[in-house]
Amino acid sequence: MTPIRIETTLSIVKPDGFKKRLIGKIIQKYEESGLTLAAIQRFDLTRAKAEGFYSVHKERPFFPSLIEFMTSGPVVVMAWRGEGAIDKVREINGATDPKKAAPGTIRALWGESIQNNIVHGSDGSGTSKFEVSYFFPDLR
Ligand code: ADP
Ligand code: MG
Repeated sequence: MTPIRIETTLSIVKPDGFKKRLIGKIIQKYEESGLTLAAIQRFDLTRAKAEGFYSVHKERPFFPSLIEFMTSGPVVVMAWRGEGAIDKVREINGATDPKKAAPGTIRALWGESIQNNIVHGSDGSGTSKFEVSYFFPDLR
């Protein structure tokens, strides 16, 4: 039997998702997948906070625009916990580009562009640890 791996991963409802009032629908999708909410908070990200979060992308051409976008309105940051939580959240979110995202995923349903794609999800166990503690340093 494969051992059960309980993970905690970070999801963000980005400013486009917040403006479209999708918070409830997004939470419902994660809950229906069996994941458990571990932390949730609304933030108005400062430029510095957004730049630190996306620092792996700082040399990419889209970085300035991404920071503009992420600071253009409130976000809702959540930690979700459960078996295989990292992959589950990324599956529910769908591919980065909404046009390539599988039908029924959050990005396919509501994303408008590769940048304005409604949600974030951590992409691995290293990044999830960094990202969860970046927003919820006291979570255990
Ligand atoms: P993901 O969020 O699926 O892990 P990445 O880590 O590659 O995707 O990129 C982080 C975020 O940067 C994306 O979710 C999206 O908002 C934005 N982004 C990624 N690639 C592009 C691009 N080519 N043009 C504009 N924005 C992009
Ligand atoms: Mg990523």
